[in-house]
Amino acid sequence: MSFMTSTTTKYPHLFSPLRIGAVTVKNRAIMGSMHTGLEEQEDGHIRMAEFFAERARGGVGLIITGGISPNEEGGLGAKLSNAEEVARHRVITDAVHAADPDVRICMQILHSGPLAPHDKCVAPSPVRSRIARFVPNELDETGIEKQIADFANCAKCAQDAGYDGVEIIGSAGYLLSTFLVEKTNLRTDRWGGSFENRMRFPLEIVRRSRAAVGEDFIIIFRIAAMDMLQGGMSWEEVVQLAHELEKAGVSVISTHFTWHESAVPTIATMVPRAAFTSVTGRLKKQVSVPVITSNRINMPDVAEAVLERGDADLVSMARPMLADSQFMKKAAEGREDEINTCIACNQACLDHTFGGNQEVSCLVNPRACHETQLVYKPTNAPKRIAVVGAGPAGLAYSTIAAERGHKVDLFDQSPEIGGQFNLAKRIPGKEEFYETLRYFKRQIEVTGVNAKLGKRVDADFLKSGAYDEIVLATGIAPRTPGIKGIDHPSVVGYIDAILGNKPIGKRVAIIGAGGIGFDVAELITHVGKSSALDIDKFAKEWGIDFENHPRGGVTGVEPVVEESPREVWLLQRKDTAVGKGLGKTTGWTHRLTLNRKGVKMVPGVTYESIDDAGLHCLVDGKPMTLEVDTIILCAGQEPLRDVYDAFEGSAENVSLVGGAYEAAELDAKRAINQAARLAAQV
Ligand code: NAP
Ligand code: SF4
Repeated sequence: MSFMTSTTTKYPHLFSPLRIGAVTVKNRAIMGSMHTGLEEQEDGHIRMAEFFAERARGGVGLIITGGISPNEEGGLGAKLSNAEEVARHRVITDAVHAADPDVRICMQILHSGPLAPHDKCVAPSPVRSRIARFVPNELDETGIEKQIADFANCAKCAQDAGYDGVEIIGSAGYLLSTFLVEKTNLRTDRWGGSFENRMRFPLEIVRRSRAAVGEDFIIIFRIAAMDMLQGGMSWEEVVQLAHELEKAGVSVISTHFTWHESAVPTIATMVPRAAFTSVTGRLKKQVSVPVITSNRINMPDVAEAVLERGDADLVSMARPMLADSQFMKKAAEGREDEINTCIACNQACLDHTFGGNQEVSCLVNPRACHETQLVYKPTNAPKRIAVVGAGPAGLAYSTIAAERGHKVDLFDQSPEIGGQFNLAKRIPGKEEFYETLRYFKRQIEVTGVNAKLGKRVDADFLKSGAYDEIVLATGIAPRTPGIKGIDHPSVVGYIDAILGNKPIGKRVAIIGAGGIGFDVAELITHVGKSSALDIDKFAKEWGIDFENHPRGGVTGVEPVVEESPREVWLLQRKDTAVGKGLGKTTGWTHRLTLNRKGVKMVPGVTYESIDDAGLHCLVDGKPMTLEVDTIILCAGQEPLRDVYDAFEGSAENVSLVGGAYEAAELDAKRAINQAARLAAQV
């Protein structure tokens, strides 16, 4: 069998096969584990089968499923411990192997330990995590033996279900990692105390699992190579654990860089690409089994560079495979400019996983995890479609409709595509938005959308009969609050502030603390190069010491944030905590960054008036004057429907999408999802 093609020479490392024991993985790209929520659903195994099969067809070498518990205590709704559950998993493995027999699929065994959302949760000691709901129950000898046996049984069940291997997660604050770290393992018996004792539980799980599945089955162990905890694992302990894991029978070591409770962002868009792979590189030198690295590796050239400099043997990309199922195929065919790049926003994936009951998907690819439901079938009745507005909604609609075979004219009065994304890309830490714009620009070419930029169209033109369907993605207009003195020269709209069209003074009040208020605060308090583009600067800002690797990588290291050139007040009328509505998994990073830069976040504000003295307001009912030079309006948006209104309800073939449909809490996730669903049906 041949795994390389002539077109893959651009990424020779990424496309070289790797032997793992008796198994060959056809390239170095892993679709990393990510819980999708499908695991717990009645028909989830059928949807997961298609979700993974599509990625197998897309060229990835090895897939690792979302976490599955070995038992009830493990805390996930989905477990694998009996024949009935084996049969459900068989549907998934059969689909993947049928899609491509050379693609390997491993199942992740995840025991949440103290993070399990029920009062029967277990741990080495009754130490509650700051992000957990319950104090865990301390395991006794019998309980420990049961957990170990359940892991081995789960690994055997995975083998019976047709998986090529399992990944045992020993990081992130889940059960195994809490045995390893002193602050969560207070035991004085043979499972606690010395590091030899603290390692005993994970090592015993690996040994017993290996005994259950035989030599040829892949066992990956996910280790917290830098857990980002004050008092976390030392580098010597990480290395010692890796050595012992090898002896215990792991086939591959996968490096992870956080516990969920740590106060360092490791996957958000503000994290530089491949920021942590040097740590994997150091571990790789210590072991003989292959090593996997991960985190913010989202394009083939990034993966290739990591492999080329010898930081890892395999590269794990979880969210990038959500964003584009054909990632590796496109890389192989020299079509990397067609890759729909993961922008690390977390808005439709991890925010949904950790935020409750919403199904996981992807902001830039609403088909993710909905492969059986949202299908872009070629049309057999091509229509002439006019799309007005080349923001996220208009771009998604036109490219999907054109891909299906419709003839699409896309109009925008601006000479460039992107709408509000052109603002987002200018915010330090949001540079990935350039990739989405590059993707859509290329999709316009590939799908044959006729883009007519710099052209304003009106209802009369659209009514001329040239079009079967008219889609209005005309977007939004910033809201101007009715505050006395709002026309004062010190008042600047957020678009002008972000584009740098108006000078911004030294003392600034921002009216409105939604996503854009935070973005503007970040922009105007920022100095120098974006830390998302500079690993050293990022490490300093978040107190990570890559060189000396103190415990957890962070113990005793003070974050160093460059002083803001401005004094800033970020204001809102609500009396809830400022920034509460930001993304579940990333909001805290924005709040913390601005706090460290001295931005004053003030809720409960009533705006009274603006004049030469500044902004007069009431804060919690008390009068206050903020003596500021500039007031930036970030007070949300109103839909822009002038073209739609001109139809006066007369046209049945006119649709509104994106911000023009609903501007309240307008976001790109909703706009793209809505547009994609409409375009799939037209
Ligand atoms: P937004 O989230 O709706 O926030 C608008 C802000 O303006 C709120 O703080 C609101 O708070 C205030 N406001 C509303 N009406 C006002 C009025 N009449 N007078 C004074 N203040 C008023 O809108 P946005 O910040 O413009 O962001 C738009 C959307 O873009 C976001 O919802 C988000 O989905 C997306 N976005 C997301 C991110 C992110 O980090 N994920 C970043 C940028 C943008 P009060 O009513 O309490 O004053
Ligand atoms: Fe990446 Fe955002 Fe999509 Fe998640 S929602 S996969 S972070 S682009």
